[in-house]
Amino acid sequence: MSQSDLMLILPDWLISTPLEPPYRGYGVCVEQGKVKEIATHEVLLERYPSAEIVQAKGQVCAPGFVDAHTHLYGVLAHGIPLENAPSGFWSFLVDFWWPKVEDQLTREMICAATAVQMYRMARSGITCFYDCTEAPFALPGVLRAQAEVVAQSGMRGVLSFEATERVSPENGQLGLRENVACIEACASSERLRGLMCFHTTFTCSEAFIRQAFDLAERYGVLTHCHLSEGTFEPEYCLEHFGMRPVFYYEKLGVLGDRMLASQCVQLDTAEIERLAKAGVKVTHMPLSNCEVGGGIAPIPDLVAAGVQVGLGSDGYITDFFEVMRGAFLIHKAAKQNPQVMPAWQVWYLATEGGARALNLEGVGRLAPGWYADLQLFQVNLPTPLEEHNLYEQTLLYVNSSQVRSVMVGGEWLMRDGFYLKGDAESLTQRAHQAALELWQKVHHSS
Ligand SMILES: [Zn+2]
Repeated sequence: MSQSDLMLILPDWLISTPLEPPYRGYGVCVEQGKVKEIATHEVLLERYPSAEIVQAKGQVCAPGFVDAHTHLYGVLAHGIPLENAPSGFWSFLVDFWWPKVEDQLTREMICAATAVQMYRMARSGITCFYDCTEAPFALPGVLRAQAEVVAQSGMRGVLSFEATERVSPENGQLGLRENVACIEACASSERLRGLMCFHTTFTCSEAFIRQAFDLAERYGVLTHCHLSEGTFEPEYCLEHFGMRPVFYYEKLGVLGDRMLASQCVQLDTAEIERLAKAGVKVTHMPLSNCEVGGGIAPIPDLVAAGVQVGLGSDGYITDFFEVMRGAFLIHKAAKQNPQVMPAWQVWYLATEGGARALNLEGVGRLAPGWYADLQLFQVNLPTPLEEHNLYEQTLLYVNSSQVRSVMVGGEWLMRDGFYLKGDAESLTQRAHQAALELWQKVHHSS
């Protein structure tokens, strides 16, 4: 086979998987979208003399980040006028967020947000994401429109619609069908996937939740829901069902390794044990948990119990280095223990951990046979990068502005600081327009 299809990426340091130490002087050989080999520069250059060479001096090559939980449309709510927003969780949802934001979202707004977020995620070193769209009046067809935008961006993604019966039972069914259509449409795509998704125990009936899991079972996909983001849901479940949410799901017979639960902030120890035993996957959003005052998720306990955990932005702060810093720091404070959540572990949750939580094969690690989903970031610190400090130094002192190049499945989305999949300015402009339109609706409906 001709070596012209081969590419050698030669950074100063290579992170293959945070489960191992970083490798100084190692590079990656990429072939047909996948990693063919990792080895020292010398070995790679000798073995593949006619491969294309990408020099990445002063840079670290790492697996691309997996944003395991986001709401792409959420970017339009950054800076939204909030002067009349109620302070409590329930009234925030019923008086503000649902009627004035989610119910006002149109397909164009969501596509504009999706397009700009593909750019902003790539800039941040993210190569894969899971999105949860909540916009009951953009049904049907919103996921298909989003999938087209994502496909153009080259990003790897899992799309879903957060089906809920809060508007009407019919709207709930539309939401479930939207997920099924997306799962079917993405089945043959290499980079896109769909999964099943419903909202929570307090907006979905028992029959509806069972239906969502049954559909997911039929297609062999995960079912996602938000779980105990604050104290509201456990209190609701105790009042209405006489038990906490995890036990309620267990009673419904849906707790298992096909369940993906995001947030998981307010769990008690028995719930942690049940989640671990059942193999439920969890995603953790340290910064948005702070934003909504939900509390601090017991992530060190979940990890210790053996739960597969991924890290997510929740559509709040996209810079994944910031998200990692959140996960690295808040648990140390909460546990009054600087040894919990070491840097390598947070790096793991931000890459392979997220991919595993999403049940994605071959994503999140740079090793032979795995997808060439990677990022290169420039490091220029006042102290030397060494094997013993690289995970911590890069987690603490690197920002997304230092990400130089990003590749998904062997294709560059960003190269030497330039986004190759669209004009950043016009993408931002389109998002501004969509945001202004949404904000005007918020204003007029108050
Ligand atoms: Zn969320």
